[in-house]
Amino acid sequence: MEKLANPQKTIEIIQKNHFNFQKRFGQNFLIDAHVLEKIMAAAEITKDDFVLEIGPGIGTMTQYLAESAREVTAVEIDRSLIPILEETLASYENVTIINQDIMKLDIAALVREKNGGHPIKVVGNLPYYITTPIVMGLLERAVPLQSITVMVQKEVALRMQAGPGTKDYGALSLAVQYYAEPYLAANVPPNCFIPRPGVGSAVIRLTRRQAPPVQVKDEKRMFTLIRASFAQRRKTLVNGLKNAAELDFSREQITQALTDLGLSETVRGETLTLEQFAALADALGE
Ligand code: SAM
Repeated sequence: MEKLANPQKTIEIIQKNHFNFQKRFGQNFLIDAHVLEKIMAAAEITKDDFVLEIGPGIGTMTQYLAESAREVTAVEIDRSLIPILEETLASYENVTIINQDIMKLDIAALVREKNGGHPIKVVGNLPYYITTPIVMGLLERAVPLQSITVMVQKEVALRMQAGPGTKDYGALSLAVQYYAEPYLAANVPPNCFIPRPGVGSAVIRLTRRQAPPVQVKDEKRMFTLIRASFAQRRKTLVNGLKNAAELDFSREQITQALTDLGLSETVRGETLTLEQFAALADALGE
């Protein structure tokens, strides 16, 4: 099968199969071979790898993955794409297509079956409406993972890799960086897709950490504090935490914990590092 990564071939497949784009599934198909080469380089796929692809569409990226990896499982929610994928990927014996919602798939079971429980690589041009639940679901659940290399909305990629004190820094930055090391591999303009998305895109690789970069007694409490700190960005940390419905600390308790950590009473959450949030969670837990 000829490569799909160009506008002519993509349009031909779509028209031949009378395929209708479904907005609700976030369907923007890649039509640029250079972008696909950049994704492959960032993902560092080798013939030893089992790759899980999320949302193969008509199989454009799957063709590249099939050529680089040992085995690929591609999970696509849209039933009308399955016969198309069966045709475009017919010549690759190392590809399995699953018609499922990725949010409902038992990925740990798939990893056991396909890769003997060893860490896998996840790759995808993600549907933007569920980027965060997909990525955080993979990181938070105990799925054996080496890396996630995905196309996301550019703004989301910037938030994932942002550091303290920047405008993009927030709960997503801290959650992602607790589990993984982000690397922004490429910026991708709208004209690399059919149809063109209304936003810029970027390829980000998240390399799973072997161990978290900070020690904290209660991870859950730390992430509740983080979410509460950024829910009211413009407020001081004391006010943000004091007003949070899911927390029950007095102003005095929060001020005391900040003083013990050598932080000012007027500090804002957006300036705190992950280490400082971990220390604050421990201090408030005592
Ligand atoms: N990989 C293809 C490409 O690069 O041309 C398509 C990418 S498109 C941005 C996202 C794909 O994810 C679509 O094919 C869409 O139908 C699929 N998708 C959307 N939601 C999904 C879900 N919950 N589970 C699995 N696939 C999903």
